[in-house]
Order: sequence, then C-alpha cells, then structure tokens
Amino acid sequence: MTPVFLNGRIVPREEARISPLDRGYLFADAIYEVIPVYRSKLFLWSEHYRRLERSLGAIGLTNPYPEHKWRGHLGTLIQQAGGGDLSVYLQVSRGAEESRDHHVPEGITPTVFAMTLPPLPPDPILEQTGARVVLLEDIRWHRCDIKSTALLANVLLRHEAGGKGASEALLVRDGWVTEGTSSNVIALRGSILTTPPDGPEILPGVTRELVLRLGASEGFTIRRERIRADQLIKADEIWLTSSRRILAPVSSVDDHPIGTGRPGPGYGRLRLAWLRHLDAFTTGAP
Ligand code: PMP
Repeated sequence: MTPVFLNGRIVPREEARISPLDRGYLFADAIYEVIPVYRSKLFLWSEHYRRLERSLGAIGLTNPYPEHKWRGHLGTLIQQAGGGDLSVYLQVSRGAEESRDHHVPEGITPTVFAMTLPPLPPDPILEQTGARVVLLEDIRWHRCDIKSTALLANVLLRHEAGGKGASEALLVRDGWVTEGTSSNVIALRGSILTTPPDGPEILPGVTRELVLRLGASEGFTIRRERIRADQLIKADEIWLTSSRRILAPVSSVDDHPIGTGRPGPGYGRLRLAWLRHLDAFTTGAP
C-alpha cells in the first residue's frame, strides 16, 4: 500500500477520502510545502516549517499542529513509506463546508494531507548541457510569496515553455525577472551572484537561501537586486534552484547562449559545495 497522511491518520492512499466540497478543491483555498528527505531525514525542516507558518498566517488559517506534532506525523509517514531519499508533499486547506461561498466561514476544520513523492532521478543531460529556458510574461497574482496551491498560471506557463522546447520559463513582470514557474533564479556575473529580493512577486525559496549561503562561503558576493529581463543574457551563468531539482544550470535564454552555453565553473563549484553540505547532513546526528 502507498501510505498517505490525512487529518491525523496514516491510511492507504486508495482509502483516503476528501470531500468534493473542500475549499482546497473548489477555490484552491490551501497552502502547501514540498520538503526533501535524505536518508529518511527532513532536509531544512525549520526553514520549510517557518514558511508554512507564514503562508498559513497570510491566508488566516490556524496551524493545525504544533511543530513537534508535524515532525511526528511526517516522520511516521516517511517511515511507513519505506524511508530513504524522497520528498514530502503536505497541504493544508481551509476545509469543507456546504455552501461553496466565497465568504470565509468561521469554525471550519482544515483538511491536512501529506504524501511522499519519489526523488527526481538525476538528470545527466541537465547537468551536462544545462536547461533551455524562455522568458514569459508573469501572469500570476501579486502574492506569489504565499505558497498557495493556486498554481494554474504556473502550470500553463510551464506548458507554454515546454511547447517552445524549454524545460522552464523565467517570468517577467514590468520588464523585471521574478522567478521560474517552480524555481528561483540566480545570475552570476564575475564574482557576483544576483537574485531578485524577497517580496510579493516571488516565493522565498528555501533552496535559494542555502545556495546563496554556500555561494558566500565560496567567496561570491551576494546581491539581492532586481534583474532586468533584457540584461539577463549578459550573465556568465544562470542557475535555477528548487527543493526537488536543487541546482540547475541554464544553457540558454530564448535561444541566446548563457556564457559558453554549457554549465559553467561557478555551477561546478556550487554543486560540489552542495554535495559536501548534503554529505554532512546525511552523516550527521539524526
Ligand atoms: N518559486 C516557485 C514558484 C516554486 O514553486 C518553487 C518550488 N516550490 C520555488 C520558487 C523554489 O522554492 P524551494 O527552493 O523552497 O523549493
């Protein structure tokens, strides 16, 4: 059986039942997180948990569990799923109510769901040749800092990128690059790593923070500044960060090669720094 967590219990996925009147289903009135797990241990848990609390607060949902309960439930789910390397997807929706009314009801019980996802297999082509990306207009709402399940715009933009032979779209709002459809962006020029500052236009990525931290200890200067879309192709290297892919080098933007058009030395250094960090994490205390 594939175990999933639903409202305090681990059940086989086939037996998990959520009401069609759930506001997560009807309105995408819900928050989610995706947390990598290495050797059965939640990676960057505190950072993901802080973001979960922030997202819940931003839509006026009470956190259903204290932190130790979350850890306990997710630990049990990971164990019952066989442990090892995987990801945990968790979602909290406002819950089900009769009326399908936009009005936010009082006293409704949130629906809490979590499942494990298999790890993404390493993508040797991506690591050796880099990702092709295209620039698309950022048609999303103005609270992209909330990790909401309302991802229709992201889904459509990713689909459009795929139709253009790209694996990710970098989104542009008023001439400025915000982020990818499911990733943050970092540009390297000389020894300076630039990434757009936190704000309502982007998700504060947990992986990006780690990569910036590792970058700083590798001697790069970190700048949190907006990046003009028409300046992006001047970067020596561009990287995408996300919990599932970690660090992905970009080979071209709208068919303009970035740097040599292949993953650069900066990427190589950060990738090694990441592998060292991961090694320390997996061999450290449980
Ligand atoms: N931006 C968006 C829109 C995303 O969906 C993601 C992936 N969840 C990210 C950035 C990267 O965030 P993280 O590193 O925390 O996974």
